Amino acid sequence: MKINGFQTRRHFIKTMTQASAACALLPALGSSIARTTPQQSSKSKLTEARYYEKLPNRKIKCVLCPRECVIDDQETGYCGVRENHGGTYYTLVYGRPCSANVDPIEKKPLFHFLPGTLAFSIATVGCNVLCKFCQNWQISQARPDQVPSYELSPQAIAQYARDTQSRSIAYTYTEPVIFTEYMYDCAEQGHRLNIKSVMISNGYIKAQPMKDLSRVLDAVKIDLKAYTEKFYQEMVSGHLQPVLDTLVLLKQENMWTEIVYLMIPTLNDNPKELQQMCQWIVKELGPDVPIHFTRFHPEYRLKNLPPTPLKTLEMARKIALDTGLNFCYIGNVPGHEGENTYCPGCKKMVIQRLGFQIVSNSITKQGQCKHCGHKIPGIWS
Ligand code: SF4
Repeated sequence: MKINGFQTRRHFIKTMTQASAACALLPALGSSIARTTPQQSSKSKLTEARYYEKLPNRKIKCVLCPRECVIDDQETGYCGVRENHGGTYYTLVYGRPCSANVDPIEKKPLFHFLPGTLAFSIATVGCNVLCKFCQNWQISQARPDQVPSYELSPQAIAQYARDTQSRSIAYTYTEPVIFTEYMYDCAEQGHRLNIKSVMISNGYIKAQPMKDLSRVLDAVKIDLKAYTEKFYQEMVSGHLQPVLDTLVLLKQENMWTEIVYLMIPTLNDNPKELQQMCQWIVKELGPDVPIHFTRFHPEYRLKNLPPTPLKTLEMARKIALDTGLNFCYIGNVPGHEGENTYCPGCKKMVIQRLGFQIVSNSITKQGQCKHCGHKIPGIWS
């Protein structure tokens, strides 16, 4: 079937799932899917943005993320997906995902959230930071008029999630903060179908929008990219403190949160800084926040650096464990013991993983270790 003269549903499914190792064919849903060309995508059917203030002379100030861009009429903010038209601010990416896959939740990674389930994962173009090591820079650093997107309402996203047996919708790949309106509405629609929502984010968001999102999200993964302001300024084009503030806010909001720390050789692998970071996490967030130390692979503008040595990842995990964190993982090293979950009570393994696969699970649906009954924090059913 031709849709809008561009492509068939079969082609849509193929395109949307090709990047996923665990993709599932999206079933026919009976609703039409329109593809927009890059030229169309930024022009039609704009949705007014939330989180902005009107200023004199048709200027606006965006208060969605800590950049607080002040934007002239007909201009876009730093993220490139929010545009001022005559003093009214619009999102250019509402209902326009450029990527959709069905992934294991372990790929996000979220290890204490419905293990072994699928997450219907979507992204739009755009990002509010510029990481020199970005793995998805082709879409995160693109503009809406550079990448084809698809017209998918929040209802359609929830429907796809249900029909692919996904237990959650994941907002991921790029930075979901910049499509917050779409994320919020998808999460609401998902809940109507008993589907949870998880945000995979850099945490670069202001407090009010994060508080609002906390009403509809079920878990958040935050990329804590380093524990120094220098790294954030030089490698991310952002700042550290707003990310720490978001983590504290998520704790206050009782949101299930896991932290990922991508270890980049020579740039953020200083043992002293790692220890300070772990001490901060224990003090401000508690010892039960899972932390994932993941292996870096040369990417984008950091192709000159080698992959993270295994011993560096093991050193970081040991520091975290010695500092008092209970759930310290090693990522991107399939088969390593640091992929598994161990009960803090009896020290026995309670979840064995191999890459994104669950090999065995000894945690009850109520979240208790089957060996000793110790409560394991997380969302298990
Ligand atoms: S969300 Fe985009 S436009 Fe708004 S402050 Fe952040 S970078 Fe600027």
